[in-house]
Amino acid sequence: MSYCRFGEEGSDVYVFGSSLGIECCGCSLRQGHSTLAATPQAMIAHLVEHKIAGHYVPIAAIERLWLEVVGPKAAVRPEPEVMTRARQMLGPEECQDVGAQET
Ligand SMILES: [Zn+2]
Repeated sequence: MSYCRFGEEGSDVYVFGSSLGIECCGCSLRQGHSTLAATPQAMIAHLVEHKIAGHYVPIAAIERLWLEVVGPKAAVRPEPEVMTRARQMLGPEECQDVGAQET
């Protein structure tokens, strides 16, 4: 499944699950080579790196990755530090609870 695609919600990253793990396809942090993460947490951390680099990463992509960690029924809070950091970097207007729309 894909977590976000290029251009979707203005995304600068394309992230999807593959047989190898979770891939950041055509990663602009690695000159267009794909970045592979073994876990959703590792990919969240990678997406924060993209944000630091000034790329646009939809918060929905990070929320989807986080749901892989906690499961759809589990409470999302307390959220991990990397998630809090991602929200802070993405700005308050994008910090609505995306998970609430899917219940
Ligand atoms: Zn990347």
